[in-house]
Amino acid sequence: MPEPQRDIYLLSPKALSPETIAVAFAKTSRSPDSFRDIAAALSDEKSAQFHERWVVGYGHASVAEHAVLHIAVENVSRLAIECLESNRLASYTEKSTRYQLWDLSHYYTPRVIAASPQAERYRQVMVQLFEGYRRSLAPVRELMQRQHPRRQGESEARWDGRIRSKYVDNCRFFLPAAALANVGMTANARVLESAIRKLLSHPLDEVREIGAEVKRVAQAEAPTLVKYAEAAPYQALMARELTAAAERLPSAGAPSAPVTLIDYDPAAEVNFLAACLYRYGSRSLEQCRAAVVEMTPGDKQALLDSALGGLGQYDVPLRELEHITYTFDAVMDQGGYFEIKRHRMMTQSPQRLTCDLGFAVPRSLELAGWRADYEAAMHAAAEAYQRLQADWPDEASYVVPNGFNRRVLLTLNLREAFHLCELRGASTAHFSVRRTAGQIYALIAEAHPALARYMRCRDNPAWPEIEAEYFAAVG
Ligand SMILES: Cc1cc2nc3c(=O)[nH]c(=O)nc-3n(C[C@H](O)[C@H](O)[C@H](O)COP(=O)(O)OP(=O)(O)OC[C@H]3O[C@@H](n4cnc5c(N)ncnc54)[C@H](O)[C@@H]3O)c2cc1C
Repeated sequence: MPEPQRDIYLLSPKALSPETIAVAFAKTSRSPDSFRDIAAALSDEKSAQFHERWVVGYGHASVAEHAVLHIAVENVSRLAIECLESNRLASYTEKSTRYQLWDLSHYYTPRVIAASPQAERYRQVMVQLFEGYRRSLAPVRELMQRQHPRRQGESEARWDGRIRSKYVDNCRFFLPAAALANVGMTANARVLESAIRKLLSHPLDEVREIGAEVKRVAQAEAPTLVKYAEAAPYQALMARELTAAAERLPSAGAPSAPVTLIDYDPAAEVNFLAACLYRYGSRSLEQCRAAVVEMTPGDKQALLDSALGGLGQYDVPLRELEHITYTFDAVMDQGGYFEIKRHRMMTQSPQRLTCDLGFAVPRSLELAGWRADYEAAMHAAAEAYQRLQADWPDEASYVVPNGFNRRVLLTLNLREAFHLCELRGASTAHFSVRRTAGQIYALIAEAHPALARYMRCRDNPAWPEIEAEYFAAVG
């Protein structure tokens, strides 16, 4: 018998539906046939029957991961996007607050507020925030033009392209969570099923409606795999009961520091090195740890250099860093949080978006002579928030601008910390997220200097410098 030949090819979504591709892959578990032959014998109807039996009936849910969908979501509020983007195993790209501008009418009004006596207050605060945003663009742009003059031979358009994010980065602090945006989402049917359940169980009408629409459009492409995604009473009940329990706690004081390192492993350096020896050797973890503890400082340093010293700009650090975790209690402005939330490899528990933790003031708004208008808009938003939250604690968050602070619990491993601090600490990142990344880096460097010296952000300006340069106040 000749040796079977290697064969690698695509099951193309141009030729096969997502559900058929998923079945073709699933059947290789029991069938000796090639994927090509399995797929050729399938129809949409047979695929649906397979999924009803195996995925829905027997709970072999991972099969649904082979059915991938691309969902275009337009004109949804940034508040709703938080729920949409809370699924770790999906991919997203959304309208950028750094590179695009918002029109005055581009905001969402929740139906309960539109039908209430508070409708006019809501409209007025939106007008104040969006007008503040639009009107501040020109003076902050002029400030940036003075700070970053046009280069010789540079066209007006190129110059504006070069400095645009620098002025938009400041003006975006005005934008409320009601601001509308577009987001493209790529997800497999297993993630989508769970995402739809989450969306349908959400307290906001807008989010539940988005859930119903996502389900409708996903069913056109994957009729069986998301068919049974329904609201989960557990999710809504659990959220209500935990909210009530949390509200019974004594009232909150101001946070002691913007980012606090709550939990970490004091023996992280030993444990990381032991994990490296474990991975590349044959000893038990206990033996590896004992060996590292016995090492001289020089031997430990040499081992760290072997593990991390050769990292080039595009290298991903080794997975053994994932055995080391950190928990941070962090406060950052909402604009910064909106970027941090995109880091899926960490666990995040954000608190509700409120006006309770004060707001940041970008230095450039002050330098451009816009601090008073900005603060007036923030106070108007806070007043509207207070009025609305008495009746609609969830919907009130729509009026909260990007400038207000948000508190979020972050648990991440050291590999993700390398990525986050390097990507978000870079000079091209927004200054809000640079500040938070810098705070996280500083706390890791204090706890574990020998590990942090390999993070490719150690030469960045320290976070207090970023704070002093870009913020007139942080709340
Ligand atoms: C310069 C710049 C401009 C940006 N502009 C925009 C923008 O206009 N709009 C926008 O929506 N976002 C924008 N982002 C955000 C960006 O798209 C990422 O969502 C964000 O930086 C999180 O990064 P991450 O996915 O690498 O991180 P994490 O989610 O923390 O993932 C960590 C690492 O895990 C791996 N990983 C995680 N998930 C996957 C996956 N599904 N597939 C493959 N590998 C995975 C990758 O190696 C990744 O680097 C921008 C980011 C930068 C740096």
